[in-house]
Amino acid sequence: MSRIYSACVIGGGAAGMTCANVLKMNDKNLSVCVIEQMPRVLKKVIVTGNGRCNITNRDISLSHYHGENPLFAAYALKNFDNFIVEVFFNKLGVIFHYDERGRAYPYSLQASSVVDALRLYAADNGVDIFTETEVYNIEKTKSGYLITTNKESFKAENIVIATGLLSGGDSLGSNGKMLSILKNMGYKTVKVTPSLVQIKTENTLTKSLKGIKITAKATLFSGDRAISQNTDEVLFCDYGLSGPAILYISREVERETGDTTVSLDLMPEYPHQKVYDMIRYRAGVLSTRKLEDLFLGMLNKRVGQAVIKLAGLKLGDSVSTLTENDYKKLTSIIKDLRFKTLGTTGFNNSQVTAGGLDTAAFDDETMMSQTHGGLYAIGEILDIDGDCGGYNLQWAFSSAMCAAESIMDRLNEDENI
Ligand SMILES: Cc1cc2nc3c(=O)[nH]c(=O)nc-3n(C[C@H](O)[C@H](O)[C@H](O)COP(=O)(O)OP(=O)(O)OC[C@H]3O[C@@H](n4cnc5c(N)ncnc54)[C@H](O)[C@@H]3O)c2cc1C
Repeated sequence: MSRIYSACVIGGGAAGMTCANVLKMNDKNLSVCVIEQMPRVLKKVIVTGNGRCNITNRDISLSHYHGENPLFAAYALKNFDNFIVEVFFNKLGVIFHYDERGRAYPYSLQASSVVDALRLYAADNGVDIFTETEVYNIEKTKSGYLITTNKESFKAENIVIATGLLSGGDSLGSNGKMLSILKNMGYKTVKVTPSLVQIKTENTLTKSLKGIKITAKATLFSGDRAISQNTDEVLFCDYGLSGPAILYISREVERETGDTTVSLDLMPEYPHQKVYDMIRYRAGVLSTRKLEDLFLGMLNKRVGQAVIKLAGLKLGDSVSTLTENDYKKLTSIIKDLRFKTLGTTGFNNSQVTAGGLDTAAFDDETMMSQTHGGLYAIGEILDIDGDCGGYNLQWAFSSAMCAAESIMDRLNEDENI
């Protein structure tokens, strides 16, 4: 015997739990369940925003979203924007704190409070949650769908696929297996790659500077073409580069077919000519120093010394030995310190997966499949991913709310027939 529900949500992550709760907010008597393969729901949300959960952002414009067709996200983000998300969470008891960059966090600054709020609302309002229950198969039936799991089976008129993709790895329930099930049902997928992830580079220099954090303008180049750029903290690591600026520009590293490089501008506020003038001036007033001390007070000490060595100069030589050509070389290195990329640190370390379920098969206002009525896909499994800054959770919430609204409409239509 199968369990029967009006709506069955597969995946108890941010998107799935929001969808189930919004359905219950609309109709307390609706039979709604969440099927989750892990022992607990919302395992990923616990680790978001370094345990503080960057829940959304004041600026959720479309330019922060990516995919083959980012426009797919426009309706959901406009109609279920950050204000609607804030109101929804207020109803669950979570109030927001915005930082100076417009990033929103729960006022408690604890991701666990977002998890608890979603979990408690579901429990208090009768969402049935089945944990350690992995969906193996989905079959269309005359009246809806039959869902087969490692335990029991479920029947529902409406099903919502909210299983996420690969980012964060197995320990967070991110295995991407649902894509194969959907492929067998005829759905197309877009190549999946890790995004918001550390970049592996040629590492002789990064290893020697391991642990040093600087602020720089990081640019990802494919050949001569600048693909993405961000000014923020950069961290040197034994495998390459990390830090917010690097995560921000990482999306295309594994998507580009040609060679990519990362360029660091170590003095982004100053144009090339100004940096050159500064070096000439220093060389004049500090001419009695050794080169190892030339950049003291201008660059991080060890980074400054690395720049001297990269220019082919000796740290022990006197500043007075510098030539016109040396000034030019030093300026170029400071404004464009290059690293050949060798990939990323992979899905387990990434915050989001780029690619996924091709959005062409879904309606952008409802998230419902164009071919299977009553089958919805929401959140990260769809080929939409956002920048760092609360954009991925916002997408999970917005898409979940679209689906919930459409399910309510379908169920109300049924009642009126
Ligand atoms: C370390 C880290 C930090 C992050 N920080 C932020 C942040 O601060 N702000 C932000 O906006 N975004 C952040 N993100 C991204 C954001 O967390 C995700 O984009 C978002 O949680 C995706 O939600 P989802 O519900 O679509 O998928 P998920 O959260 O991945 O949930 C999917 C659920 O489905 C379950 N599942 C999968 N397959 C099956 C199956 N076959 N049967 C049953 N259940 C299944 C999984 O176990 C999982 O619980 C971060 C991600 C990581 C990894």
